[in-house]
Amino acid sequence: MFARFKFFFVILQTPSILDTPIEFLKGVGPLRAELLRKELDIATYGDLLRHFPYRYLDSATVQHIGALSPEQDYVLLQGAVVNLSEEGQAYRRRLTATLYDKTGRVELVWFQGINYISKSLQPGATYSVFGKLTYFNGLPTITHPEIELYNAAQVSQAGSLQPVYSTTEKLRAKGLSNRAFAKVLQSLLEKLKPGDIPEILPAELRQRYQLYGRYDAYMQIHFPQSETQRRQAEQRLKWDELLLTQLRILKLKINHHQQKGFVFGVVGDHFNNFFGHHLPFQLTNAQKRVLREIRQDTFNGVQMNRLVQGDVGSGKTIVALMAMLLALDNGFQASLMAPTEILAQQHFQGIKELLEPLQVPVALLTGTVKGKERKQVLAGLANGTLPIVIGTHALVENTVQFSNLGLAIIDEQHRFGVMQRAKLWQKNVFPPHVLVMTATPIPRTLAMTVYGDLDVSVIDELPPGRKPIETIHRSENFRPKVMQFLKSEIEKGRQIYIVYPLIEESEKLDYESLKAGYEQVKAWFPDPKYRVAMVHGKQPQDERERNMQRFISGDAHMLVATTVIEVGVNVPNASVMVIESSERFGLSQLHQLRGRVGRGSEKSYCILLTGHELSKESRQRMHIMTQTSDGFVIAEEDLKMRGPGDIYGTRQSGALDFKIADIVHDVEILEETKTAATEILYTDPSLELPQHIALRAGLEQDRSGKGLQWNKIS
Ligand code: ADP
Ligand code: MG
Repeated sequence: MFARFKFFFVILQTPSILDTPIEFLKGVGPLRAELLRKELDIATYGDLLRHFPYRYLDSATVQHIGALSPEQDYVLLQGAVVNLSEEGQAYRRRLTATLYDKTGRVELVWFQGINYISKSLQPGATYSVFGKLTYFNGLPTITHPEIELYNAAQVSQAGSLQPVYSTTEKLRAKGLSNRAFAKVLQSLLEKLKPGDIPEILPAELRQRYQLYGRYDAYMQIHFPQSETQRRQAEQRLKWDELLLTQLRILKLKINHHQQKGFVFGVVGDHFNNFFGHHLPFQLTNAQKRVLREIRQDTFNGVQMNRLVQGDVGSGKTIVALMAMLLALDNGFQASLMAPTEILAQQHFQGIKELLEPLQVPVALLTGTVKGKERKQVLAGLANGTLPIVIGTHALVENTVQFSNLGLAIIDEQHRFGVMQRAKLWQKNVFPPHVLVMTATPIPRTLAMTVYGDLDVSVIDELPPGRKPIETIHRSENFRPKVMQFLKSEIEKGRQIYIVYPLIEESEKLDYESLKAGYEQVKAWFPDPKYRVAMVHGKQPQDERERNMQRFISGDAHMLVATTVIEVGVNVPNASVMVIESSERFGLSQLHQLRGRVGRGSEKSYCILLTGHELSKESRQRMHIMTQTSDGFVIAEEDLKMRGPGDIYGTRQSGALDFKIADIVHDVEILEETKTAATEILYTDPSLELPQHIALRAGLEQDRSGKGLQWNKIS
C-alpha cells in the first residue's frame, strides 16, 4: 500500500514551472537574475512568487504634501514636477526637482540615472510619486522616488492596493525598483495556472477554517483588490506555513515518543533516603509536580525529552538532583551539563554537599580538569564506578564514554533549535532520557515552535518566604546617592553585585570600561574597610574562580562582574544587584541578572543605572523591569520588542524562518494549525490517506524545510 503511493508520488512530482530559473522571466534576464539570487536569494519562479509584498499602499489615499510629518515612512504623493536642476561634478553629481501640490512641496533627489531621468521628466506635468520620506534641514525629501506620469484611467483600473516589495540598492540601480518588481511579478502571475499551485489542504480543513484556495491566495497576496482580500490571502499563506511547521515538529515529537527509552522501574533507596532525611527544605508543589512528570516519563519505556521551565530561583537544581537519584536507583549513570565553567563548578559544589550523607560519588568534568584527575573521571565514567558527573560541554566530547548513561540533564540552555536537538539526540542508537532546564521563560508561541518537539513542565511557584525584589531605575546623576545606599546595605551585612555590560563586538572597549568601573568602585569603597572582587571572562581560570569564591564565601563585600554571572550563580546573602548601563541589556537578560538576588531572606534590590538620554525602547524596558518581576510577562514583552530571531539565538535554528507568518502576532493561527496538525497525524501518521497525499507533497517540496525531509523523519 505504502509502496504504491510512493510510486504514485514520484509520478506526481513532474518538474514544476515554479522551478524555472528566474532569468527566463520577461523583464529579468541573466544580469538581474544573478543579482536577485545574490541579494534576495530569489533563484526560481517559485522564490519570486514567495517574495511577498511587505506592505501595501492604498492608492485611493494619496497624501497631501502639507500633511506630511517625519514619522511617516513610505508615502504616495501626486503633484507637478518643477525646478529640475543638476548640481555637482562627477560622482558627486545629483539631480534635484521640486514636487508640489496645493498644500506644499517636497524635494526629489537622484544620484543615479540622471541623464535618463532629466530627459524624460516633463516639467509642469502631473506625476504620481512614491518613495521613502526623509527630512534634510527640516525639508521633506524623497531620494530616488518611483515616479510615473499620472494617468487617471490607469489608476482607477488597477486594484486599489499597490504592493511594496523589499528590494536593495543594487537591485534598484539595475532597474528593479519597487514598481519594476510589481511588473515582473505581474508577468509571472500571468503565466501561472491553478494547476501550477495545487491545493494541499484537505477540503474539510479549508471549510472548517474558511480558508482561501492556495492558488487564489498566491495571486491575491501580490495584487489584492481590497483590504479584505489581502487579509484573507495572507491568512491562508500563513496557515500553510505554520501548518507545515507544526506537522514537522509534531512528527518529531511522535518519533521521540516512539523512541525506546530506559525503564526507571523503581523509586529506590537513594531517592527515598534523600527525600526522607536529607532534603534541606520542603519541596514546593510545583517541584513535586515536575518530579512526578519526570517519573512518569522515565517509567514507561519511552525516551523522555522534557523541558523544565522555571523562573530564576524557582528551584530547578534540586529537581535535577532528584531525577539523577532516580536514575541511580535503577542502575544508571546521570550527567548534568551547564553552559559555563562557573555554573558547572557551583552545581558541583552544591550537589556534592547534598550528596555527602548518601555517600554517592560525584565528579566534575570541564575543560580545566586535566591530567591524572581527568583520566580518573573518564575511567570512572567508562567503568561505571562514577554514577554522577557534572560538567560543561566537555561532557559531549568523544573521549567521554559512559558505562550506561541513563539521564542527561542540560541546565540553562536555550541555544538549540528543534532541528539541532533532533540531530544531537539521534546520534545515539539508544539515547538517554533528556531533561532540558531553562530559566528563560519561553513565550507560548516559541514553546509551540522552537521547543514544540519537547514535553514541557513548568515550575510556576517560587519557594516560600522570598521577599519581592524592589527594582529601581536611576540615571547617572543619582550615582552618589546610589553609592551611599550600597554602603548602608554593606553596613547591614549584605553583599552587592555590580554588573557591567559586555558585548562581543566591542569586547576590548568593554573591558576597559569594566576596569574603569572597578577603579571607580574602589574609589567609592576604599580598602581596607571594603573588599571588592572582580570577575570577567578574560581572567585566567584560577584567578576568576578565586575571586568568585571570595564573594561566595562572604569575604568580599562586592563583586564587580560582567554577565558571566548571568545564569545560575547562587549567593543568598547578596541582596543588591546594580546593573551599569542597563540600557544596553535586553529585557530577558536584565531579568536573568536580577534573579541573582532575592534568594535569601533579606529584602533585595535591583538598581538599573542608565545614562540620562534614553531611547523610547530603553525607557520602555526600564519601565517594564520596574513594574513586573514575572518572567513570563517579561519574556512576552521581550519577544514583542525584539522579534523572535534575536532572542534565544534561534535565528539559526530554522524553526523560525518564516516568510509570512509571524509568531509574535499569529498566535491564533498557530493554535489552529497545531490542532489541525495533531488531528491529521493522529489519524494518518505517514500521510498516506488520499486526502493527505497533496499535503505530503507540499511538505516535501517546501523549501523552508530544507534540513529535514518528511520521508526521513517518517
Ligand atoms: P534555579 O531554578 O534558578 O536554578 P536554584 O535551584 O538555584 O534555582 O534554587 C534557588 C535557591 O532556592 C537555592 O538556594 C535553593 O536551595 C533554594 N530552594 C530551592 N527549592 C526550594 C524550596 N522548595 N524551598 C526553599 N528553598 C528552595
Ligand atoms: Mg539554576
